[in-house]
Amino acid sequence: MRRYDLHCHSTRSDGVLTPTEVIRRAAGGGVDVIALTDHDEVAGLDEARAAAREAGIEFIDGCEISVTWQGDTVHVVGLGIDPANAGLGEGLASVRAGRDARARKIGESLERAGIPRAFEGALAYVTSERLISRTHFARFLIEAGHVRDMKDAFKRYLAAGKPGYVPHAWASLAQAVDWIHGAGGQAVIAHPGRYRVTPAELRALIGEFRDLGGDALEIVSPSHAPAEYASFAAIARSHGLKGSCGTDFHGPGESRFDFGELPPLPGGVDPVWSGW
Ligand code: AMP
Ligand code: MN
Ligand code: MN
Ligand code: MN
Repeated sequence: MRRYDLHCHSTRSDGVLTPTEVIRRAAGGGVDVIALTDHDEVAGLDEARAAAREAGIEFIDGCEISVTWQGDTVHVVGLGIDPANAGLGEGLASVRAGRDARARKIGESLERAGIPRAFEGALAYVTSERLISRTHFARFLIEAGHVRDMKDAFKRYLAAGKPGYVPHAWASLAQAVDWIHGAGGQAVIAHPGRYRVTPAELRALIGEFRDLGGDALEIVSPSHAPAEYASFAAIARSHGLKGSCGTDFHGPGESRFDFGELPPLPGGVDPVWSGW
């Protein structure tokens, strides 16, 4: 059986490995088909595609779009997109554009919470001048000894409602689906188990996504407990959505699954790759 990993990050967003290093690590871990899905960004895809050709694994062009849905942040992965598509490119640029001002506000907010110079601290971890994220703040908070690890950084400072959290308006769900479809790709709701919504709200999100023409639901993800794989597979099936899987790899030691460690997609769900 071919091993698919359709969600991971490089230095072009908030990962710590370059696109080439990501692909080499995936190939070394036994992944057969890899999609690089940097946040709001397609700039790493050319390099990753070339590295995949060299490593002899199949490459899928991807991205992960930040969306605001009913006041909550939701992520939509695009798979099989044309990275040169103008509509997608402009859409992603518009989403990235708000990140610098937001990051300054996160810095000010952390300053008020007693952590000075966090914006400058986070900048030291930024690896693409096009994109600063909360992950960069988290790496600074860890290194400066304010928190134990990534999870602790979000739990204490960066998650919604915490002192370093700054609400932000990303793309709409309809825009994300349209940009992905306009670029010839499939739209996937990333890690549905991670959103802090009620079960009824989650069904509303997934129903709206399906009505907008969305294609798939991410089922196997480090954000999900193994017991959730079957329930998300059932939700995908009942909504006529396909199923996807990915490590959401950001760096060695930072993720629950390294490349090649992802459990298989449960049976009874149509894989997002069934038509490839
Ligand atoms: P941003 O797009 O700037 O809001 O940053 C979001 C990123 O923060 C996600 O893509 C994850 O990499 C990371 N993240 C969010 N919540 C958590 C969490 N609870 N634990 C670890 N990383 C998280
Ligand atoms: Mn991330
Ligand atoms: Mn995500
Ligand atoms: Mn991700």
